[in-house]
Amino acid sequence: MQRIYNFSAGPGALPLPVLEEASRAVLEINNSGMSILEVSHRGKDYEAVHYDAMQRLLRILGLSADEYSVMFVGGGASLQFAMLPMNFLQTGQSADYVNTGEWGTKAIKEAKRFGTVNVTASSEDKSFSYIPKNITFSPNAQYAHITTNNTIEGTEWSDIPQSDAPLVADVSSDFMARTLDYSRFSLFYAGAQKNAGPAGVTIVVARKSYLEQASDDIPSMLSYKTFAKADSLYNTPPVFPIYVVGLVLKWIEEQGGLMVVEANNRAKASLVYDALDAFPDVYEPAVTDKGDRSLMNITFRLRDTDREKAFLSGSQERQMDGLKGHRSVGGFRASVYNAFPIEGCHALAQYLHDFVEQK
Ligand code: PMP
Repeated sequence: MQRIYNFSAGPGALPLPVLEEASRAVLEINNSGMSILEVSHRGKDYEAVHYDAMQRLLRILGLSADEYSVMFVGGGASLQFAMLPMNFLQTGQSADYVNTGEWGTKAIKEAKRFGTVNVTASSEDKSFSYIPKNITFSPNAQYAHITTNNTIEGTEWSDIPQSDAPLVADVSSDFMARTLDYSRFSLFYAGAQKNAGPAGVTIVVARKSYLEQASDDIPSMLSYKTFAKADSLYNTPPVFPIYVVGLVLKWIEEQGGLMVVEANNRAKASLVYDALDAFPDVYEPAVTDKGDRSLMNITFRLRDTDREKAFLSGSQERQMDGLKGHRSVGGFRASVYNAFPIEGCHALAQYLHDFVEQK
């Protein structure tokens, strides 16, 4: 099979060695005579997969298993928009949210069902094209929530803000893509389907001391305590997605960890941003402040919108897929997650140059 350049925003490109190993495991795991899809989630083959993924994850992030719990939850990152306040925000209490995009807006909508939401800062005034600066969170907030990378709009926090309230983050689209001081967060969550694996599992990491403050009076399957106490084996977990997450984590370690991954991602993103910036009369990057630009999701428009169709079909002729912007904002978006190869960024940069010459 000829692999093409998959710029999809998620599910996104996965490393080929991971796909190859996963395809073998679909037939048989550990000479067991059974597929990874067939073994019991309480058997030794799967248990090894499960605990290995948890340990590897913390090791890559530089977090201690004594202090942090890893949870594998279903329902996507969207469920976390509700599960977080359900666990930590009660009527009469408040939480701070920074609204940097559509996903933040959805998180806020869900939190309002449970308590008071203070939108501490927002970039909605300029179509979420920047990251608000100099934010002061309320020390009395139950937590302060940010979205570290805004998948649709193409902005990313370069620095994690200070907060006296417990800091919580939706890290769905830049999880495992750069070095961050993850110990600054009391809790963070990511749908796996961008940098960490396939759709079907959401990774939640929480400081154990923070989890103690979670409410007890909620349904078992929506309670972080249930997941943490049972090591996410209270019920049948999404076995196959977790297995593939484990393979991706192994791949990240083989690359040399997050420092190497980040350096690669910076090199990849620069190729594309430099090409866009070289032709300001033709391309309009959605994010003008370079410090706020996402390493993962590069968003831009053509100044001449009449040429959009031609741009897209030309990209497809060059074996590039998934460049259409999110349906809510239009334009174009190149998602260049960890597994997206640098050759694809060279190819896009070349195309951006060549398209300028075309009439
Ligand atoms: N948050 C962010 C930052 C996202 O990019 C996405 C999905 N693209 C979500 C939340 C929602 O994730 P899910 O589809 O897993 O519910």
